[in-house]
Amino acid sequence: MPCGNHKLVDSGTSCVIAWCSYNNAAMLMSPVVGHWLTDARSCCSPNYDERPSCQIDTIVLHNISLPPGQYGSRYIDLLFTNGLNPADHEYFATISDLRVSSHLLIDRQGEVTQYVGFDKRAWHAGKSSYLGRERFNDFSIGIELEGTDWQPYEATQYEVLAHVILVLQATYPAILTENLVGHSTISPGRKTDPGPAFDWGRLRGLLMAFDHG
Ligand SMILES: [Zn+2]
Repeated sequence: MPCGNHKLVDSGTSCVIAWCSYNNAAMLMSPVVGHWLTDARSCCSPNYDERPSCQIDTIVLHNISLPPGQYGSRYIDLLFTNGLNPADHEYFATISDLRVSSHLLIDRQGEVTQYVGFDKRAWHAGKSSYLGRERFNDFSIGIELEGTDWQPYEATQYEVLAHVILVLQATYPAILTENLVGHSTISPGRKTDPGPAFDWGRLRGLLMAFDHG
């Protein structure tokens, strides 16, 4: 497992965990080695498979919070590692059988967790279609922001997201900035994230500022 490359500091869950501080997003220059961000916390999800033979050229932005609207728990780790206990919350009973994942999560403090290697197909987009393309899981990287459709995201989440996108674009050059899409864009009528709370202009401004900084 690629996660084996990471420092084991906590075996409290089924994940191999390596903590890293992104406290100063401006200093973030995290490289990608073996399709894993070297400085991210890692928590290996079994919910992935091989990508078909197509290059990675898209990033899909999502939001997630478990339970909805609550932050700071390990429930997202548990969902992506098939360990969510349906008895812990009534909402969990409706999702605990799902087999889903995303490549990255950026929590409210800006900490990044990687669940699936970028070369593998994570299961985040589901049925999807946009500009004549379908099955976005095949060629995209999924990034979850801890949040909801309506609550403003944290400044540090925007800053870390922008840096992560630039790192990914440097590693996978086919990811053009116009290929940043929201889940709601590729699955309209079925998905609403990252929601009206997500400020696309703010993200684009940071991408330009950091790219030329
Ligand atoms: Zn989504």
